[in-house]
Amino acid sequence: MSARCDKTRLFKASFSFWGVLFLAVLASSLLSACADRPLSESVLSGETMGTTYSVKYINQPGEAHSARTEEEVAANVARLLTHLDKLLSTYQQDSELNQLNRAEVGVDVPVSSILWQVLLIADQTYRDSNGAFDPSVGPLVDLWGFGPTAAPDNVPPDAVIESLLIDTGFKHLDFEPNKQAVVKRSDIRLDLSAVAKGYAADRVAELLFDMGLQRFMVEVGGELRLAGTNGRNQPWRIAIEVPELLRGGVQEVVVATDVGVATSGDYRNYFERDGVRYSHTIDPRTGRPIRHNLASATVIAGSAAQADALATAFMVLGTEQSLALANRNEIAVYLISRGPDGWNTSLSKSFETYLQR
Ligand code: FAD
Repeated sequence: MSARCDKTRLFKASFSFWGVLFLAVLASSLLSACADRPLSESVLSGETMGTTYSVKYINQPGEAHSARTEEEVAANVARLLTHLDKLLSTYQQDSELNQLNRAEVGVDVPVSSILWQVLLIADQTYRDSNGAFDPSVGPLVDLWGFGPTAAPDNVPPDAVIESLLIDTGFKHLDFEPNKQAVVKRSDIRLDLSAVAKGYAADRVAELLFDMGLQRFMVEVGGELRLAGTNGRNQPWRIAIEVPELLRGGVQEVVVATDVGVATSGDYRNYFERDGVRYSHTIDPRTGRPIRHNLASATVIAGSAAQADALATAFMVLGTEQSLALANRNEIAVYLISRGPDGWNTSLSKSFETYLQR
């Protein structure tokens, strides 16, 4: 029996749910703020990268005041996200990433500074996570039906998985800094879905800073970049949702600012076959979706891109290995796993400071 979640609808639905969750938590703090201070708060939103984005910013008159109109801010943000989509998408045939994916093995491929930066962040997380985060899983993501081409719920034959594993491994991509070029040493195909949305949130944050704004929450497909204080002059309050699509709810509330926050989970993009859940996070060591009981990983890091990539890495590693890696490297991670009596939560030492107590 297979009960596939309608990925796009559920993803968007859960995403809009997730978005509502953020806004609900945020609105509650802002509403009580209205009582004690006038707010010039602006909210803009739209669609990008197959998901949605929103920006909430406080444009308070004073030294950190942007003279830009809301229309100008919204237009600049939309233009930037369209540009990033064009470079980093596996869903647009002529994107820069897909041109790299079609490039010959062994040939220098000069890349834009944006793709170069994202590939460097990916390489760092690939090394830090001992290969758990690995964008070269692209062909495997497609094989399991989680990529751009729709595919039926199917468990691919072992032989096909093994054949794709031969070319999997971010180590097959060489970097040539003096030429800002990369060289594929085998026929790898990259999928940056697990880092590019976080990177987009960081780039939007930089754009807002350049326009004189310093107090905002940027969110792209659930990945967040926070700056300054909210309308009550306090750090932003972010809800971590219970990793369950239909019932959901708030599992924990964190208080943070001037960081990136990202969550990865196995409860939005998945299908079930004979009682087994196959989610969109692929273990690069096996070529198969993860099979442990970790349902979601939330990471708080210096940038949204780093948080985004690390959250996926932890979803591959599972609870024990994630906590060991996070505590060794002082990474703030919050994990929710399935237990016999419901949800179990665990967090790294660095995460404690963000808990709202
Ligand atoms: P995360 O949990 O952050 O990462 C999981 C995703 O990363 C998987 O879906 C897979 O793609 C990849 N992945 C799986 N395992 C690994 C691993 N071990 N290491 C590294 N990566 C892994 N979707 C659409 O439906 N239509 C679009 O037009 C579209 N355009 C996009 C354009 C861009 C630039 C990007 C980045 C994504 C686009 N997407 C599109 C995909 C969509 O936005 C989400 O990225 C996708 O659904 C997963 O989001 P997530 O946050 O749940 O993934």
